[in-house]
Order: sequence, then structure tokens, then C-alpha cells
Amino acid sequence: MSLCYMEGMWRDTAECRLPVTDLVIQRGVGVFDSVRIYGRRAFALTEHMKRLERSASVAGIECGDIIDRMYGIVREGVLRDDCPGAGESIVRPYITGGDENDRGRFPHPRYFVIFERAQPEKPEDYERGVALLPTSEGRLSPAAKSVNYLFGLMRNAGQSDFKECLYCPGGEITETLSSSFFLCAGGVIKTAPLGKVLDGVTRGIIIELARENGFKVEERCPLAEEIKHADEAFITGSTKEVLPVVRIGDEVIGGGHPGPISIRLRKIFRESLDRWLDT
Ligand SMILES: *Cc1c(COP(=O)(O)O)cnc(C)c1O
Repeated sequence: MSLCYMEGMWRDTAECRLPVTDLVIQRGVGVFDSVRIYGRRAFALTEHMKRLERSASVAGIECGDIIDRMYGIVREGVLRDDCPGAGESIVRPYITGGDENDRGRFPHPRYFVIFERAQPEKPEDYERGVALLPTSEGRLSPAAKSVNYLFGLMRNAGQSDFKECLYCPGGEITETLSSSFFLCAGGVIKTAPLGKVLDGVTRGIIIELARENGFKVEERCPLAEEIKHADEAFITGSTKEVLPVVRIGDEVIGGGHPGPISIRLRKIFRESLDRWLDT
């Protein structure tokens, strides 16, 4: 069961409908966000809401007071008895293009918010690490968290041993289908700069925590050719937190075992959660 807020009502998500005229269905015009809830408190809610607002703005969706309303909806939803996950939840606010396309401006968007039980990654993925499938393509308009994952999903269709595709346009590593990417070599952590990737909320927090704890972080795209000299790699995201990567395509990283930096950063992240929890 998952819970959905739509048009002023709280219902089972399975009962919620969008008209087929909505441009999210007809043209893929829509943005969303994912907010992790720990113990009924939203993690980095303001950061996520601001990013949702930026995603909508990049997409030309005029969201009026939708973002302001979203705060109240998220806070009300996580406290409801029927919120799935008993406080360990994931909340996904969506804003769609609505029915009107004014040459790339969408003046009458629709919105809804889905509340689900958090589905953490499998424990063995943290213990053994995951594999990524590199692709020479990039993600369009990286500043927007768009609902359109089709071109990324198409990359690893039928290759289920890969967790996600890894975008490497022009040999520069940017991000994965739905996570931020980090490569570590010689004690330096490298990750693509904003402008080339989505402003991952977990990305920003991990960079902050890494620097606070004495790690050197460079915000520049790691190159595909650096993979073979790397000591370790990991990806970050609201549900994954910090997930070790041990293989990219055929290239094995860190002898095929999760590295100490990713293990340490995940521990620091979990111990620091409280700093970003909604009050
Ligand atoms: C959702 C997403 C992320 C992760 O963002 P968080 O805010 O850390 O959850 C990173 N990259 C892409 C392309 C995404 O869609």
C-alpha cells in the first residue's frame, strides 16, 4: 500500500488518476523529488523543496505556491497513521506539466505527493558493492530532476548485473541514472561539478561531511581513463545513502571490494543524520 495526496485528498495511490491530457503523459513534462524520512522526520526537506522548485523552473513549469504547500503536505503525511513505513518512509512530490503548453511554458501544472515505505538497498550491495554500466551519452538538462528516465534505463535494459548506467559524455564521468558519482584515487575524492550534474542533496552533504573530516574533495569530472587507477568509487542518493561501487563495465575497482572511504563516509553520514532532520 502507498499513500497519495492529490487534489486535497489522502488516498491509496492505486486509486489516484491523472487525465491522459496531462503533458507528463503526452510529452514527458514533469519533475519530482525524493525525500527520505527517518523516524517520521524529513531529511533535508528545505534542500529537496528548493531543488524541486529549481527543477520545475528549468522545465518551464510555473509552480506558483505549490512548493509552499508541499512543506505542509509532507509534514502532515509523515505523521499520519496510514503513512507506510511507520516513520521509515520515502516521500516523492511530483509536479506535472498540466494540460496547457504555451510554447515551452506550462502555466497550469498538477501536483501530487506519494508516501511509501523506504526500501533500502540490499545489505549485500553494501557489503559487496555494485557494478555500473558506462555509457558515452550524457543526461539532458542535468539541473532538473525530470521524470524522464527512459534514455538512461534503455542503456542497461536486460543487463541486470548492473545497478545503473553511468553517464560518461565525451569521456567525462558525470552521474548515474539516479545517483551522484564519486571516484577516489590517492586519497582524493573527485565528483563532477554542479552545472554538469543534478545538485544531489546527498552529494552536497557528503562533500560537506568529507571535508569536515579531513578528506580532500575536488569538484571536477573524473575521466573514464582514471577508472583503472582508482582505489574506490561510490554513489550517493536519498535512499542509497552511500553505496560502494566495485566495477564499472569490465573494469574492477579496489580489487572488487568496497573501499574504506565509502564505508567511513556512510558511517559518518548515518551518525550525522540529526543535523538535517526536520524539527
Ligand atoms: C535523484 C538523483 C540523484 C540523487 O539526488 P539526492 O538528492 O541525493 O537523492 C542524483 N542524480 C540524479 C540524476 C538523480 O535523478
